Amino acid sequence: RDIDSMTFEGAYLGMRLPPSLGVPEIAFLGRSNVGKSSLLNRLSKSATNASNLDTATVGKTPGATASVNLYSLQSKKKGKNVLAFADLPGFGYAKLSKGVKEDVEMAAERYLGKRKELALGILLVDCRRDPSDDDRGVLAALYDMNLPILVVATKIDKMSSKNALENQLEKVRVGLGLPQGQPFCISSVTGEGVKQLWTIINDACED
Ligand code: GDP
Repeated sequence: RDIDSMTFEGAYLGMRLPPSLGVPEIAFLGRSNVGKSSLLNRLSKSATNASNLDTATVGKTPGATASVNLYSLQSKKKGKNVLAFADLPGFGYAKLSKGVKEDVEMAAERYLGKRKELALGILLVDCRRDPSDDDRGVLAALYDMNLPILVVATKIDKMSSKNALENQLEKVRVGLGLPQGQPFCISSVTGEGVKQLWTIINDACED
């Protein structure tokens, strides 16, 4: 897709939905600390010209826990936005008060339910953890919306051996009721799987 830069478009809370950018959007979901910001940064770096200083860094925004954060990705050649990433609020964060938790759910649901640009929903799970009820709930909600979905296991570099990784991936697969060959694996530290993930994202946008 010839992406040269990524720009932060804004953080949208509660009833405020991000404006439509008129390009396919990829939504990223997952519990807090799963590696969502690391993956978004890695994806943007691996797709963009590294010398480009316009590339926004996805970081921890303490005040923006409950917001949908929208990033646009530009192609210089095409002179316009070609894709957008929606960073959805992290769930399963025990420390959140009930009110904030409701805001988190509302922001995610409002976004997912109304977003016609959505080309793919990516649910991130930490490969070292057994899936939680939250993970299953989010996955079920995505299936209900008839969205193309990809489950991605993060932090695979943290596993001590290939065997340990395969055993754990099988637990994740069964725990989430995924077909053989899933989840898709990535490491934002080594970059493993990131190129292939770009291919999946691009394919999802062609449909
Ligand atoms: P978020 O809360 O989902 O946005 O999670 P972050 O991207 O902030 O990551 C949480 C922690 O996990 C940070 O300390 C990251 O450095 C670390 N982390 C994220 N991805 C990976 C990965 O692929 N491998 C390893 N080893 N650590 C990772």
